[in-house]
Amino acid sequence: MSELYRDSGVVLRTYKLREADRIVVLLTAANGKVRAVAKGVRKTRSKFGARLEPMSHVRVLLVRGRELDIVSQAESVEPLSPMLSSLDRASQGLAVLEAAEQLSLEREPNPDLYRMVVGAMRAIAERPAPLTVAGFYWKLLASEGMRPELDMCVRCGGTEPEVAFVAFDLGEGGVLCRSCRSGHPMSAEALEAVRDILGGRLAKALAMEESAVTHEVSLLATHALEYHVERRMRTVAMFE
Ligand SMILES: [Zn+2]
Repeated sequence: MSELYRDSGVVLRTYKLREADRIVVLLTAANGKVRAVAKGVRKTRSKFGARLEPMSHVRVLLVRGRELDIVSQAESVEPLSPMLSSLDRASQGLAVLEAAEQLSLEREPNPDLYRMVVGAMRAIAERPAPLTVAGFYWKLLASEGMRPELDMCVRCGGTEPEVAFVAFDLGEGGVLCRSCRSGHPMSAEALEAVRDILGGRLAKALAMEESAVTHEVSLLATHALEYHVERRMRTVAMFE
């Protein structure tokens, strides 16, 4: 007996299956990560057209299968194609998709992740900023229960202005003062930007021009996300 269901999803990636078919990996709103076969999608006159490409935001009708579902219908929710108008936007979009792929579990609903991915993809398509991807990473970490401490040294408990925070270590839980420092160096300006991102002032951070500070914030976000992904994969492996 085949079970049909509808959902919305962002195409995380696709790969070839046989001559004309393709496996599509979707991050869906209600069903988590879903792997589905799109039959005939690689034919020139496919009924799906170009809608099932990475970064497409689609509404789909799927048939549940034992391992792979089958895409029965797909229609575009919105064009995220401006994403592909420049290499820079495309690589930002791919960075978002990669994080989503790493942190989503198959058939395990994560509506927050879906909402954040769609928001980040829209931002990249419409008004990309130097901190769009980093903002997504920091907020993603917070939603994963990894919100870093930004106002107190995580080792000695010191606060400003008695101590200055000079380093960031997600493994330790956040910022560190000069005498306790470990992890990555962090400037006062970068700390300010991360506080803006996680403190409800994302718009202020997104208004920043590209600079050494935005590069630093992006690099710190990448390190923090990598740390979290690795730790999470170890945990998942332990339970499997
Ligand atoms: Zn300290």
